[in-house]
Amino acid sequence: MDAEQTLQINETWARCSLIIKERVPSQTFKTWFEPIVPIELKENKLIVGVPSQFFYEWVEEHYSSVIAASLEEVLGQGFRLIYQVVRVNEENIETEFSDIKTNMSNKPSGISVSLKEQLPPVENTLNPRYTFSNFIMGESNQLARAAALAVANNPGKTSFNPFVIYGGTGLGKTHLIQAIGNQALSAGVAKRVVYISSERFTIEFVDAIQSDTIKNFSSYYRSMDVLIVDDIQFLSGKEKTQDSFFHTFNSLHQLGKQIVLSSDKPPKNLKGLDERLISRFQWGLTADVQAPDLETRIAILQQKCEEDHVYIPQEVINFLAANVTSNIRELEGTYISLIAKSSLENKDIDILLARDVLRSIVSDIRTPVSVEKIQKIVAEYFNIPVDMFRAKNRKQEVASARMVAMFISKELTNCSLKTIGLHFGGRDHSTVIHALQTVEDQIKLDSKFRSVVDYLRKNIESISD
Ligand code: ADP
Ligand code: MG
Repeated sequence: MDAEQTLQINETWARCSLIIKERVPSQTFKTWFEPIVPIELKENKLIVGVPSQFFYEWVEEHYSSVIAASLEEVLGQGFRLIYQVVRVNEENIETEFSDIKTNMSNKPSGISVSLKEQLPPVENTLNPRYTFSNFIMGESNQLARAAALAVANNPGKTSFNPFVIYGGTGLGKTHLIQAIGNQALSAGVAKRVVYISSERFTIEFVDAIQSDTIKNFSSYYRSMDVLIVDDIQFLSGKEKTQDSFFHTFNSLHQLGKQIVLSSDKPPKNLKGLDERLISRFQWGLTADVQAPDLETRIAILQQKCEEDHVYIPQEVINFLAANVTSNIRELEGTYISLIAKSSLENKDIDILLARDVLRSIVSDIRTPVSVEKIQKIVAEYFNIPVDMFRAKNRKQEVASARMVAMFISKELTNCSLKTIGLHFGGRDHSTVIHALQTVEDQIKLDSKFRSVVDYLRKNIESISD
């Protein structure tokens, strides 16, 4: 090809590009048109190079009409665009022809088409265990679950894009975001779904750079219908990976593909993340999951028993649920330990065994404690007669000890404020509230006082009735 021809082809493509640029969003243009290079103009064909098979499939599928229109405007009728996959290997440029005028199934004959590159198969990264049907709903996760379900049934079609779930560890984020993937696949509303942790994404990205396969890496993730990235907080400080993720995000978002993310905090509080990423994370919907309440914890354990076909007496379930409060992973861990212990030691599952298991997991086990016991131990500590708690005595030490006893009663028993008041000489519930508040305030201000309360609480719990 001589210089004049080269000039001509370059100019032709430049003019087509200008027309296309006006008709597609600028990010689309950057992503899908800037990488296209003009190669040859001959007879009624404009041959252009594209980076991959995947690439031209997208371009054809989404932008064939805008391309056809631009060709017609610049070259007149009867021209068609021929794509050539140009892959840049170490030194030689390898090309593969592919003629796809407007759609693949309508290939004109007579032109050799050799397409080695297919859409890469999606590695199955979803855990089938994580579904909506075994995700227990409670106040703590209601909104996140409802939104997740909407996204799963309509990936890319709701305004929840991206959909971000955030919350503390072990609260069901991974479960929910994977449930979206599993559900979208089984409902047939998405074909290509990938789940990946942000750490894994980073590792793959670095590998791809080192092995010079970054194009494959990018096109793989950009070929998804649903991209699920877990724990995005770990992208923090990794600028290059963030950059790559940013482009993947844009490309998917533009194509109306669904992006689902999880994070340990609201996106706007993520440190070490590029502002432009944070702003994109806020385009869709952000929902949180919180620590589950007692009923939810009980329901989760009951469901586990059902799933695993094991029988655990209700009182033991209640006991576990009352004691393992921090998160669901820990709750599951305790449950598994209990079953393991029972089968290893050939013992029935009962409160005693549960207490044994909890002892090694939970630092302070909440055993039901009576108000009387609390009064006795607190009175001994402050060296006052126990019936002073019920008397009208307003002496400073008595009043203070009484308040501490009320406070610990609220913490360690299931008694209502009213019942606690009754135990303390029939004081009404507003007096109890005042006591609780006073103690709480003082705990915050006075570390010595706090250690006294801690000491008493431990003491009360460790001494059996
Ligand atoms: P996170 O990703 O927030 O740290 P996970 O999704 O890994 O938490 O949840 C920890 C464990 O608790 C998983 O085994 C998960 O199946 C279970 N789990 C969490 N929430 C629920 C729920 N609402 N119902 C049933 N199981 C749950
Ligand atoms: Mg997780």
